[in-house]
Amino acid sequence: MRHERHIATGTETTLPPLVDQFGRQVTYLRLSVTDRCDLRCTYCMAEHMTFLPRQDVLSLEELYRLARVFIRGGVRKIRLTGGEPLVRKNILQLFSLLAPHLDGGELDEVTLTTNGTLLSRYSEALFATGVRRVNVSLDSLDAGRYARITRWGRLDSVLKGIDAALSAGLKVKLNAVAMRGDFESEVDDLIGFAHGRGMDLTLIEEMPLGQTGHDRSQSFLPLDHLRRSLAGRWTLVPIDDRTGGPARYVRVAETGGRLGFITPLSCDFCANCNRVRVSCTGGLFTCMGSEGTVGLRQALRGEDPEANVGSLIRDALGRKPKGHSFEISRQAVSGIARHMSVLGG
Ligand code: SAM
Ligand code: SF4
Repeated sequence: MRHERHIATGTETTLPPLVDQFGRQVTYLRLSVTDRCDLRCTYCMAEHMTFLPRQDVLSLEELYRLARVFIRGGVRKIRLTGGEPLVRKNILQLFSLLAPHLDGGELDEVTLTTNGTLLSRYSEALFATGVRRVNVSLDSLDAGRYARITRWGRLDSVLKGIDAALSAGLKVKLNAVAMRGDFESEVDDLIGFAHGRGMDLTLIEEMPLGQTGHDRSQSFLPLDHLRRSLAGRWTLVPIDDRTGGPARYVRVAETGGRLGFITPLSCDFCANCNRVRVSCTGGLFTCMGSEGTVGLRQALRGEDPEANVGSLIRDALGRKPKGHSFEISRQAVSGIARHMSVLGG
């Protein structure tokens, strides 16, 4: 059963495909639906965040209208993110609005990235709107450490959320940000936990986005370093599987499960980048590692929104950079001022 729809949806006439200046066709949209979150992960947010005024944030209807422009331009996969997408009031309405595009075959997939705290409440409803996969962020299986990383999160709520998602029939992938220190020994437990439940685990290299009050140069753990140490304990068999994203996968022979590595700083996936990101205020980012953004909100709230938003997107794609430009090391951090929660990873 679908949730009630408040605005008309339907099969779309298509527009010329969204192609950037290097011929890369954009088929994947990551859409942030809020900058707010119920957690404050140290690598992502400052403890005392100032969130956006509500009138700056796109309404659910505006988010849907925006998504529809991308769908008409050939986007086939939409991932909702945040902040925490499930803390957005009435978020199921947006999933319900997108559902007909899944039914109609214009979209292959609608997914979300979540911290999992509200999955026990939402998993069944998400499944009912056509969601089949979720990414859940989980950096530790130790309740104390989880609380320290998230500043106040409760591990048990996430574990219950993961169970609820699996019971509802959702495929779950875990994401963990690799960090120097405890994480290096705990990662083995995360592998066992994920693979024991049929979930992929993807390790993400920390990105220098926003001041969060923690010293990234101390926490940054290069994934090539972690991978070498994992290879001393596990048999990592390289595989070609690509999920359309930047992760490179290996199969862990001992568990049979997949382990992914996302090394955003290495830029080794930029050449095939098929994605754009839109913030919850309608800022279009054609590259995650670049500060440049094109505001779509005004056009979205003006006359003939779909045509005007469409041409702004096409202009911006004409300037999509070939690759990103940030770096981090123990000595130097050359980062980007915005927080990850603005764009949602
Ligand atoms: N709240 C949701 C969650 O945590 O999954 C969705 C938004 S969160 C910003 C998306 C992803 O970005 C999470 O997997 C999180 O671990 C990751 N992330 C946040 N800040 C990061 C950073 N500085 N470097 C790398 N990954 C980061
Ligand atoms: Fe919230 Fe996700 Fe950022 Fe953690 S990573 S503070 S859960 S938005």
